[in-house]
Amino acid sequence: MMTDPNIARRGRRRNPVRADRRQEAEAAPDFHSLVDDAVQGIIIHRNFKPLYANNAFAELFGYANAQEILSLPLLRGLVPDDVWPRLEVEYDEMMRGAKKSTIGRSRGIRKDGKEIWVAVTLRVVDWQGDPAMMLTSFDITKQVELEYSLLKNEQKLRAVLEILPYPVFISRRSDGQLLFVNRKSCLLFQQSAGQFLRMKSSDLYVDQADKDNLDNLFNSVSDIRDIEVRMRTSEGRVFIAEMAAILLDYNGAPSMLVALNDISQRKEMEAELFRQASTDSLTGISNRGYFQNQAEQEVRRARRFARDMTAMMIDIDHFKPINDTYGHAAGDSVIQGVVKRALESLRQSDSIGRIGGEEFAVVLPETSLAAAYDVADRLRAHIEEKPIIAGSAAVACTVSIGIAQLSAQDGGIEDLLHRADTALYAAKNKGRNRVEMAAITPLEKKGRAPSHDET
Ligand code: GH3
Ligand code: MG
Ligand code: MG
Repeated sequence: MMTDPNIARRGRRRNPVRADRRQEAEAAPDFHSLVDDAVQGIIIHRNFKPLYANNAFAELFGYANAQEILSLPLLRGLVPDDVWPRLEVEYDEMMRGAKKSTIGRSRGIRKDGKEIWVAVTLRVVDWQGDPAMMLTSFDITKQVELEYSLLKNEQKLRAVLEILPYPVFISRRSDGQLLFVNRKSCLLFQQSAGQFLRMKSSDLYVDQADKDNLDNLFNSVSDIRDIEVRMRTSEGRVFIAEMAAILLDYNGAPSMLVALNDISQRKEMEAELFRQASTDSLTGISNRGYFQNQAEQEVRRARRFARDMTAMMIDIDHFKPINDTYGHAAGDSVIQGVVKRALESLRQSDSIGRIGGEEFAVVLPETSLAAAYDVADRLRAHIEEKPIIAGSAAVACTVSIGIAQLSAQDGGIEDLLHRADTALYAAKNKGRNRVEMAAITPLEKKGRAPSHDET
């Protein structure tokens, strides 16, 4: 309601005005017709003595009509005690011309004593030749009560999050600004709450991609569970966090509530258990079970992409006499020495496993039988090359190797290793310290073709 009452008033008082002004005044709607029946409550006062009020204002404050308001000596009774001083200061400032108008919200007191919240626009106007204050208002009690109940809910939420035994934080969706952190978060990240609230959630992640992924996920879902990300404390310690997150409104802004758990120790334990379950303790290479698992995967990959793949079986020659001569412990050292030399002869992509006491198997992906023969013979020669140091003894030692290339006849890794084992048997028969190949059966050819070792 911004109509200047002057315009209408001029008309009523029939003041001498210039011709163009008069025209304007005549064209403008009358002040009373605009304001008397307005939905917003309007009052004009000078030094809080009412000069004009409309019925909506009277109704807003629980009075019968505008006349009842105008009969009040002062408007003081409509204002709570704690609001009054501010109102007086504002009145003085505006009258001095410091401010033309203000918009805000305030509490008021109805005739029946009940408090209400009103949105208020103040404006200095000219009333019958002197400045006066025009106040336009409407009821916002319901809205403010709702805001307060939300605020109460937020306080409750904070209280609940604060006592949780997990780190929890809330960040704003638009820019990642941290809005809330609980005590456990402060402990985990080694950061005070004050420092936290100056940071953005991106400061907590090691990989920005993790944070971006989370943001993107929230474009399609509203809660996320069991995500693992790497995070960093203020002291630079990197840890693996298992996290769950939901979207919520916080302080009126779309936000993300994140609960997390430092699972670094659990991860380390899992990795250690896996290592123990998958490796051979004497040599550190894959044990039989894990090797076969890996090798089976390699077979599937080779089949899917129609790639060559070859397997190798290695057995130490005359190992019993080594044990008998140098003792079991020296025998163990020889096994370790053979593995070390085998690893030196293989590529990163080849995998080796300990299949039995002094027997080993290797899968060579992307490798034809001819190429594998070269690798195997190099490995054989590398072991023969010089004695293996086992304690105080230098033990001369050789190996026999059988190799077989994956073919259509092989049902899986077991079949392939079996054919390599047969070739190994042939190598032993032919005098040891040598490499024998199982015959190639082209992939497209079905049926079992005997290898030259088997004939
Ligand atoms: P061949 O040339 O025919 O292979 O003769 P070999 O003496 O090596 O015979 P074989 O492969 O059958 O013998 C394997 C021996 O290895 C039997 C066992 O006492 C010994 N052995 C098995 N596992 C271990 C181990 O972990 N440590 C030690 N020191 N010896 C082992
Ligand atoms: Mg042997
Ligand atoms: Mg053996």
